[in-house]
Amino acid sequence: MDQMPEDDYNERPLTACPVCSAEVDLSWAEVGERVVCTVCGAGMLVVSLEPPEVEAEEE
Ligand SMILES: [Zn+2]
Repeated sequence: MDQMPEDDYNERPLTACPVCSAEVDLSWAEVGERVVCTVCGAGMLVVSLEPPEVEAEEE
């Protein structure tokens, strides 16, 4: 097996989209910031980075 740089992935703050459960990368996000799911386009609010957690945005 080749060596995989999995550590980089594990250190990324990934969470799941509250709408479609797609992975949402919070690497560049800050608490209180609004992020948009790249899969379904739903807006969500970053409530925590450790652990990475988002809250569905009310529309
Ligand atoms: Zn989504």
